[in-house]
Amino acid sequence: MKKSVQPKRAKAPGEGDAPFRGARAMMGRGGELPPELFYEVVEQAPVAVSITDESANILYVNRTFVEVTGYDGEEVIGHNESILSDKSTPREQYEALWSTIQSNRVWTGQLINRRKDGSRYLANLTITPVNDGAGNISHFLGMHRDVTEVRTLEQQVRNQTALIESVVESAPVVIVLLDEAHRVVKSNRAYQQLRDACGQEPAGLLLEGVGRRARHGLFNDVEVALRFDPARPVWYSCSAVPVSEADVAVERYFEHGERRYLLLTAHDITGLKEREVELRTAALRALTAEQELVHSLRETLNGAIFQVEGPFNLLAAAVGMLARRGESWPGAEPLLEVLREADEAGRQALRLLRDSMPIPPREAFVPVNLNQVLRDVLSLFTGRMLGEGVVVEWEPGEIPHCRAREGSLRGMFKQLIENALDAMGDSPAERRVLRVASRADGDELVVDVCDQGPGVPEEQRLKIFEPFFSTKVPYGRGTGMGLAMVQEVVNEHHGTVELVSGTAVGAQFRVRLPVDAHIGEEEA
Ligand code: FAD
Repeated sequence: MKKSVQPKRAKAPGEGDAPFRGARAMMGRGGELPPELFYEVVEQAPVAVSITDESANILYVNRTFVEVTGYDGEEVIGHNESILSDKSTPREQYEALWSTIQSNRVWTGQLINRRKDGSRYLANLTITPVNDGAGNISHFLGMHRDVTEVRTLEQQVRNQTALIESVVESAPVVIVLLDEAHRVVKSNRAYQQLRDACGQEPAGLLLEGVGRRARHGLFNDVEVALRFDPARPVWYSCSAVPVSEADVAVERYFEHGERRYLLLTAHDITGLKEREVELRTAALRALTAEQELVHSLRETLNGAIFQVEGPFNLLAAAVGMLARRGESWPGAEPLLEVLREADEAGRQALRLLRDSMPIPPREAFVPVNLNQVLRDVLSLFTGRMLGEGVVVEWEPGEIPHCRAREGSLRGMFKQLIENALDAMGDSPAERRVLRVASRADGDELVVDVCDQGPGVPEEQRLKIFEPFFSTKVPYGRGTGMGLAMVQEVVNEHHGTVELVSGTAVGAQFRVRLPVDAHIGEEEA
C-alpha cells in the first residue's frame, strides 16, 4: 500500500514549527485537542494535500495526494511540485499562480497534471501561503482534486446545450419558451423575425388565436391566422407543451421546487392554406359550373316557353271565338278543326318543353356558415376582380350558422356579386369598390352587397325582380332571370331581398335570412 510521508523538518506536529502555531494556540485555550489530531486530520483529508517550502519543493504529502498522483511519498519529497506538471498548461497560468502566491494571496485555478503512470488529469488546485512569526512566507499549502470527470461532464452538457441551442436557433419553426405569466423567457430567430414583422410579441397573438385550449397548456396543430397584413393573412399551425425545470434558488434546494413554462412552437402553413383555398375554389368552380349549366338550360327553356305561350294563348282565344260564331259562319268548321289541331300541337310541344326542363338537385337544409359561403363566392371572382381593378371590402360579422341550402345560397350570392361586378364594369368610376358585409340582426342574418355602378333608376326598383326583366345591354348579356332566381332562393329560405339604395352611390342589395327557418318536412 502506498504511504504518505511525514514532513522531513517536522520534529513533531505542534512543537516549535511555525505552521503549527495555530494548533498550539487552540491547545492553549482548552487543552482538549492533542497536536497529533491535526496531523491525522490533514493525513486523512479527502483532498490531495502537499506542504512545500517557499520554492515549491515538497516537504509533505498526505494519503489522498498519493492516491491521486500515483507517487509514493518518498518519490516526491524533496522534488519540486513541477514533478506533477504535464507541461501542457500554458506558461501564463504558472506566472499568474506564482505572482499571486508570492504576493501572499491564495491562488485557485486549474492545471493539467501528469500521474506517475503518465496519465493526465485536470487538477483544481488551491495554494495558500503560510507565514512565519515575522509575516514572511515560509511554506505553501497546496490542496488539489482531480476534476477531470466533472469537467468532462460539464463540457458534455455545454456541448449538448450549444448543439440544442444552435438547432433551435436555426430551426425554420417559431419556438418560444414562456413563463407562467406568458412572458417570453427564450425565443429563437424565427420567433424574433416574426416579432419584427408584427411589431409586437407574437406569442400573445398566437395564444389568443388558439383560444380556450391555450389555458390547459397542451394543444396540437391548432391553426391560427395572424392578420398584421390584412391583404395576406399568415397562417401558423401551433402546438404547445408544458415544461418544467428544477428551481435553482438555494432556499428551495431541499424542496425539489420547479418552475413551469410553456414551450410554444408554430410553423408557417400559409403556402399550404393557399393551396387548400385554390383547390377548394377549383372544386367550387366545377360545382357552380354544373349548377349554372342546369340553371341556364332552365332559363332558356323558361324563356322559350314564355315567348311561345303568348301566341298560343292568342290562338286559343281565336279558336274560342270561332267556335262561338261557327254556327253563323258556314264553312268555318274545317278552319276551326285546323286551328284546334294547331293549338293542341302547340300545347303538346309546350308540355314537352316543360317535361324536358332539367330539375336542379334537391338540397337538404343543413347548418351553413354564411361567411364561408360568401368567402367562397368572392374567391370565385378573384381573377375577374383583379383584372377589372375592383377592390373588395369584405366585412364578415360575428354570425351564427343558419339552416339553409348551401348550394342555392352560393348560387344566389354569386348572382348578386356578378350583377354588382357587371354594373361596375359599365361604370366609368375610377375606384371600383365591391362591399360585402354580413351581420346578425336578432333572429336574422343580414348580408349587404354594394357596388359603385350606375345604380338602379327609381322606376325600375320593383321591376328588376320580375322574370325576364333586364337592364343589361347589349342584349345577350342578361336574360333577366338572375334576380328572379335570387328572389326564388330567398323565398324558399323564408327570407327577404330588397334594393336598399339604388342610385347615387351604386346599388345596395340587402338579403335577410332567418337563422333557424322553420322548414317544413316536405321542404327539408
Ligand atoms: P518552471 O520553469 O519551473 O516555471 C514556470 C513559471 O513558473 C516560471 O516562468 C515562473 O514564472 C514561475 N515559477 C516557477 N517557480 C517559481 C518560483 N520559485 N518563484 C517564482 N516563480 C516561479 N505545478 C503543477 O504543474 N502541478 C501542481 O500540482 C502544482 N502544485 C503546486 C503546489 C504548490 C504548493 C506550489 C507552491 C506550486 C505548485 N505547482 C504545481 C507549480 C510548480 O511549482 C511549477 O511552478 C510548475 O509546475 C511549472 O513548472 P515547470 O517546470 O513547467 O516550469
